[in-house]
Amino acid sequence: ASEWERFASSTSASREHNDRASRTLPLGVTSSFQHWDPYPVSIRSARGAWLTDVDGRRFLDLSMGFGAMLVGHLNPVVVEHVEQALHETGTLFVTPSPQATDMSERFCRRFGIDMIRFTNSGTESLMYAIRAARAFTLRKAIVKIEGGYHGGYDALQVSVKPALADIGPADAPVGDVPFDVEAGTVHVVAYNDLPMLERTLAAHGSEIAALVVEPVIENLAIVLPDEGYLAGVRELCDQHGVVLIFDEVKTGLTAGPAGAAQRLGVQPDLITLAKSIGGGLPLAAFGGKREVMEVVVDGRMAHFGTYNGNPLVMAAARAVDEICTPEALAAAEAINVRALTAIDEVIAEYELPAHTVGLGVKGCVTWSTTPVRNYRDYKATDFGVAELAWLWGVNRQILTPPGLDEQWLVSLAHTDEDMSLLVDDFAALARALRG
Ligand code: PLP
Repeated sequence: ASEWERFASSTSASREHNDRASRTLPLGVTSSFQHWDPYPVSIRSARGAWLTDVDGRRFLDLSMGFGAMLVGHLNPVVVEHVEQALHETGTLFVTPSPQATDMSERFCRRFGIDMIRFTNSGTESLMYAIRAARAFTLRKAIVKIEGGYHGGYDALQVSVKPALADIGPADAPVGDVPFDVEAGTVHVVAYNDLPMLERTLAAHGSEIAALVVEPVIENLAIVLPDEGYLAGVRELCDQHGVVLIFDEVKTGLTAGPAGAAQRLGVQPDLITLAKSIGGGLPLAAFGGKREVMEVVVDGRMAHFGTYNGNPLVMAAARAVDEICTPEALAAAEAINVRALTAIDEVIAEYELPAHTVGLGVKGCVTWSTTPVRNYRDYKATDFGVAELAWLWGVNRQILTPPGLDEQWLVSLAHTDEDMSLLVDDFAALARALRG
């Protein structure tokens, strides 16, 4: 309670702002992810790794736009490219442009794919990737991962972080009972469980167009694939003619210079990208193997969008592509690894019931002692302490998103000194918990 009192006493302008906003914006926010109870901190500006809230306080930003701000807020290269587009190029042509072609070539090279189409959000990319898989296979059903989030498209609204109490034991898989939603049949399988996927595909494979999976789950903090899991998924999809879609909206450049697929050595048929590729502007994409993307060439499906690949967003993407060299990303990853190691030491010293998980420039603390291999393993998590740890940070001007969904991001603007604020704060929390 005292941490919530502390929160209330330092966020009066945010409270007033939320009161005003709630009259015209449901919950006072423009995306339900921006809301938390009783009201979220409202931010008025950002630069580098830092935010300023409407009360005038500075926060170390460790959410970084849910990972979209990989290159840092107001990155000077992004600003320069976008300014040039604004002053000299124009913002929207709805015709082909060299800028969009240039970025398609750069992304195909970087991610090792044949063809790509740009969209404006991850949600759209997932919707079109599924549509492409359906056009390619002439099947309708899909498989998704239990608990996983992939944006707002209807077919993917099944089993998005269901109440943990509703999840069956491991021998009664959710996937045995397919869901029927307006957008088709959706089978749900647990992550890191090849036998469950094998059973589902054996029973329904001939009706299944696609399996949608984050190669590393980054909407449930961070859940890493077991050794061989993704290769097994690839093999099962091949056996059953199922299009394998890796949702790299969260992983993408934050997992490495060519994304999680390349880092983990398993190539999907399609990938979806968003967030980190756009430098904070609304850029997303879906792409992959030529034989699948050709459904858009020969008219088996169409893909539309007024704003797709507009020159303003392409300018930001070009800047991100230039900035995100393997060396720059490796330097940020090294900062992340040092922070994770330091937090591991605090956990060991205070014998906290917690462990860290990291990949690339992202990391998280999970409040359980047992490793998490899929959503149901979060039953062992102490969500009370998890919430306290998050609020503790917010009250000390370190902003990570609430809930299970997210993780911290070490952007190209963060330094070791910035991350030591997180580590020191975590140590202070450990002392308070143990004191
Ligand atoms: N896929 C994943 C894995 C995501 O994390 C998200 C958003 O958080 C989406 C898709 C949807 O992206 P957008 O919010 O751009 O629609």
